[in-house]
Amino acid sequence: MKKSYGVIGLGRFGGSICKELSKEGMEVLALDSDEDKVNEYKEIASDAVIANSTDELALKELGFRNIDHVIVAIGDNIHASILTTLLLRELGVKRITVKAQNDYHQKILEKIGADEIVHPERDMGRRIAHSIISSNVLDYLELSDEYSVVEIKAGEKMKGKTLADLDIRARFGCNVVAIKHGKDINVSPMADETISYEDVLIIIGADKDISRFEKELV
Ligand code: ADP
Repeated sequence: MKKSYGVIGLGRFGGSICKELSKEGMEVLALDSDEDKVNEYKEIASDAVIANSTDELALKELGFRNIDHVIVAIGDNIHASILTTLLLRELGVKRITVKAQNDYHQKILEKIGADEIVHPERDMGRRIAHSIISSNVLDYLELSDEYSVVEIKAGEKMKGKTLADLDIRARFGCNVVAIKHGKDINVSPMADETISYEDVLIIIGADKDISRFEKELV
């Protein structure tokens, strides 16, 4: 059966999730307390409703308990975001993803049982900072407070060398998990794999090791 989604809060973040899910053919119930926002999504989402998500009765009547995955994308109003998450949890929603404003907000969300907590501005800021430091860093994905995955375009220093020549694991403690050559992707590169200029390496490691790697080889 097709999964159903709910998006609460149709600001830039929630709105973008709603548009993308709808574009992919998903069933989406969009909710916002602001009439103009709801009107904007009437034609996009399967259903768009005006309601206050901290109103328990409204959530019940709208059938939120039958939705598989709800995204709480309320911006500045931390109180409303927390209360909404709590109500959805109590209603028995299977999966709840919440946008957190800061670390305190995150801690509370963890305590009340949000399944997934995201920090879109913070994460995007980090990604952009890494691509500003080096235009060869194409993407940066945080795995935890200490570990990340980074996508790096091979430059002059790597050109024509094999992974064994570069000795990345021993020198930096990072692992090359995949190499993209144009459209092809090799997901378990061998030590004798030669890197061509502009190949893309996907590397996993501790942030401090990735940082050394970026400074010395990228
Ligand atoms: P962003 O930073 O993603 O643009 P905003 O703060 O602009 O986020 O948007 C958050 C949205 O959440 C707004 O459209 C606002 O009307 C909506 N919102 C805030 N509180 C509630 C609530 N209690 N119930 C429903 N919608 C809410």
